[in-house]
Amino acid sequence: MSDSCFICSKHKGTITTAGKMIYEDDYVYIGHIDKGENPAYLGYVMIDLKRHVPTLADMNLEEAKAFGVAMARISKALKESEGAEHIYARVSGHGVPHLHMHLTPRYPGTPEEYWGPWEVLDWEDAPFGTGEEVDAVCERLRAQMEMDYETINE
Ligand SMILES: [Zn+2]
Repeated sequence: MSDSCFICSKHKGTITTAGKMIYEDDYVYIGHIDKGENPAYLGYVMIDLKRHVPTLADMNLEEAKAFGVAMARISKALKESEGAEHIYARVSGHGVPHLHMHLTPRYPGTPEEYWGPWEVLDWEDAPFGTGEEVDAVCERLRAQMEMDYETINE
């Protein structure tokens, strides 16, 4: 836990962020990007590790399991409830040295020149939304993750 860390502060609830929570347990937090007044790419989610460590290499076994399961569950939900055809994942950590992974879905019809983790955001017909649209995506993802829990456990 670091007091000056944006992600730690968000988890602690000491700052209010525009992002929307989708899922949370002892190890990970999944939220949707929200840019307030500005439209956000729908389905753009972030998985944060709860513990303040900088890289994928710093996770212990329990954290790695939880992180992997979170990746699989939210990706499956993005496919099933939002119709994504592919999920891109990226960890950079240049901005905030607290492990977080960006997941961006690619939707059917995305022209090949926009295929890629950030490239999909630049497609002019990409689905963007604010407020209630982001809330609705989060609701669907949350419901889908719960519905899929049994099958991923098999
Ligand atoms: Zn932190």
